[in-house]
This record gives sequence, C-alpha cells and structure tokens, in this order.
Amino acid sequence: MKYLLPALLISLSSATIAQENNTIVESKAAPKNIIMIIGDGMGPAYTTAYRYYNDDPTTEAVEQTIFDKYLTGLSSTYPAADNGKVIGTVTDSAAAATALSTGFKTYNGAIGVDINKKPLQTVLEWAKLQGKNTGVVVTSQINHATPAAYLAHNESRQNYNDIADSYIDDGIKADLYLGGGWKYFIREDRDLVSEFKKAGFHYIDDYSGLTDLPKNKPVLGLFGNSGLPWALDDTNKYRLSAMTKAAVHHLSDYKNKDNGFFMLIEASQIDWAGHGNDIAGAMAETDDLAKTLEYLEHFVEHHPDTLVIVTADHSTGGFTVAANGIYEWHPEILRTMKHSVNYIAKKLAKESITNESASNLFSFTLTKDEVNLLLESKNNPEKQKSKGLYQDKRSSSAEKALLITVKNIIDLRSNSGWTSGGHTAIDVPVYAFGKGSELFKGHQDNTDIAKKIFTLFGQ
Ligand code: MG
Ligand code: ZN
Repeated sequence: MKYLLPALLISLSSATIAQENNTIVESKAAPKNIIMIIGDGMGPAYTTAYRYYNDDPTTEAVEQTIFDKYLTGLSSTYPAADNGKVIGTVTDSAAAATALSTGFKTYNGAIGVDINKKPLQTVLEWAKLQGKNTGVVVTSQINHATPAAYLAHNESRQNYNDIADSYIDDGIKADLYLGGGWKYFIREDRDLVSEFKKAGFHYIDDYSGLTDLPKNKPVLGLFGNSGLPWALDDTNKYRLSAMTKAAVHHLSDYKNKDNGFFMLIEASQIDWAGHGNDIAGAMAETDDLAKTLEYLEHFVEHHPDTLVIVTADHSTGGFTVAANGIYEWHPEILRTMKHSVNYIAKKLAKESITNESASNLFSFTLTKDEVNLLLESKNNPEKQKSKGLYQDKRSSSAEKALLITVKNIIDLRSNSGWTSGGHTAIDVPVYAFGKGSELFKGHQDNTDIAKKIFTLFGQ
C-alpha cells in the first residue's frame, strides 16, 4: 500500500525546535516508547468537572488532579476544508483521530484516508516499520472510529465489518488489541478471532485473563459485544486501567522490546456519556482514565525513556459546569452512584417504583417529588419529551421516558448544563509527561500532534 506522508514536517525541523527549546534537538532525546491517549469527547469542561468530582471535601482547596499536573497546552480540532470550501468546523471522532494518527486534516467519517480517500500512513504503522512493538487499548469496540484511524484505511467509519476484516487482510499491525467487539470479530460469515489465533495470537475474553498473558505471543482480548459495559456497570469499573497495566507489561517485555513500543489508549465512552448528556457516566469514565494516568505516571518514573501524551478528539454535549443562572455545581451525588443511568432506567421500567427502591438504585435518597416524576414518566411516557438525544431503539417507551427523567434528576441535583446531543468545536486540552513532553507546549493543531510523534520516531 502506498501512503501519503505528512510533507509538512518542516515546521518541526530540528532547527526550529532548537530555537524554541535547545534540549529536544538531538535524536538521543527521542523517547523509546510513546503512549498516545485519547479521552473521546473529553473537552475542558469534563476535566474541570472531574477536579470537583475528585476533590477532597475535608480541605478548603480544590486539589489538582493528575490531568492538571501535566497540562501542556490546547489543541484545535476542526476537520478538513475541501478546496477552500469549509466542510464544517465541528469534527467527528474519525476525522479527529485521523488528524492525530496521520497529521492530515480529513472529512468527518474518514478512517486513515485523506479528502480524496487515499490512505495515509499512521504513527502506529510507522512505529511498526521501525521495529517497535505496537498495541491498542480501548473501551469501545477495537474497530470503532478512534482505534480504526490508527490501524485501518477506510472511506467510512460505518464499515465496521470491513474495518475488522482489514485488521487481518491488510496485515496484522499490532501485537496487542484490548477492547470490545465480539459481534464484529465472530460473525456468521467470518470468524476473525479464529484467524487471529491461527496467526499465533493468544485470545482472552475475560478480564481475569489479563493477569497472565504469555510473554512470547501477541494478544487479542475482547470483553464485550460492541463496547465494554459502562464503567459504572462493569465488573471492574477501572477496566481501562487494568487493561493498560497488562498491555504496558506485555509490550515492554515482548519480541521487539529493545526498540520500544507505541500504544494507543482510548477512554472511548466519555463521548458516549456526553452524547447522552449523562454526567454520572462521564465522570466515572473520566475517573477510569485518571487511574490509568496514575499508573502510567508510576511507569514513566521507572522508564523515563517513555512519553505519554493525552488529549481529546473534541468535546461532546456542550457540557458545562453549572447551569440556569445558579452559581453552584454539586458532584456529591455523582461520587456515590453505583449504576449507570441506563441500568437505573431499565430497572425502574421493570420493577415497582417506591422511594426505597428508587433511592437504592440512585445510591442517594430521592425526594417525594423526584419519585413522583419517575412514576409520572413510567405511567405517561408519551408526555416526557425527548431532547433528541440518542436512545436505544430496543428499549420500551417507559424505559426511554424514565431514562430522560433519571438524567433530569441528576442534572438538577448537580446543576449540570448541556447545549447539544452532538459534538462542539471548542479547543481541547493537551497533557504530556515523560521524555519529549516539552514539545506539546502552547496552542497546537490536532495534526501537529501526529507530526511531533513522527518526528520523535525519526521520520
Ligand atoms: Mg472514539
Ligand atoms: Zn461522539
């Protein structure tokens, strides 16, 4: 396959870097390992909210989070313009991930291809060519837009089966894949899991398998039909951290360990919670990412030749911290929740609603008015107006109405604000630590992040 290469690396030539920062010029300053992390949909309001969510309420200060500690800059995220004509200023995850993986702007929906649908080389493919170990760890299905933009070339993110097939047919590009996707990888017409096994892969389908991965084999781990369960509902609510730990251990001790590794990690479901205007889900997913960063901070202390970069592909839901003219935001109830809003709505639709049963599901005590709102939604679901947010088509009308009411209760309690069921175009934060992290200072474009990684990997 012939690739287009980002010819624009001149902006990052050694000379330019030397002027800005004379410590980064020499190739000996290049990190051996690069871990690229995308919090899908994690705009700055989410990491701000997380600071309050994570706050120690017994102290006066609102403590810094692991994100704050490593903030280096901001990134713009807009997708491609077509021959001078602006396609749009709001990106989707496919175009943004392609910018982050290849250094090229493209159209929304594009997976590793340019505006003419020509394949673009990705940093993961380049790392593999340099003899590095490579891996992908996500909480979506492993053929979802973000990971696919590092591993595949397809004109549309919707071609899920094609993209999954290409993971075998275009040559296996990673030594480790962890995430979801049974329904795409074990199909009537093709069993890609068997094909991976034939290619020598060790396959696991349960988190327990993460603790003893064989040293000498590549790994495929699928733990869900499409995406993994919500962090709030999963058997391990820190599953991204658990997968990352296993992946880092594996890749730093696998075949090409002397050459280092490149890994993509995605906290995929912050975005999914954002689309649903579900702040409880978004905070739990962000918490899993924070725990992942805490582990990686420890890893980098012991392996200082590693660079960790964290950013978002865009923000989602137009979420903001406080709403309706009230100068307060209350994360307290979010900290104690033990079930996703989807789980709560499903249970309320099936079982009889009392103050006690509902309060148990929410893990905080509901008021009489709140319980009445739930009963009203269940009994007269047609009265509960949908805000145009994503709803599972298979759920009953009572369940759909209850889901809206459950989220309304949480929004009112926490005073969370939303402006959209889609993405927004505000700049996203960039965090970096480890060797070469100085490169990510200030404002940059999402394409610059890929260009910097290519440069650090000697392209
Ligand atoms: Mg994604
Ligand atoms: Zn999205």
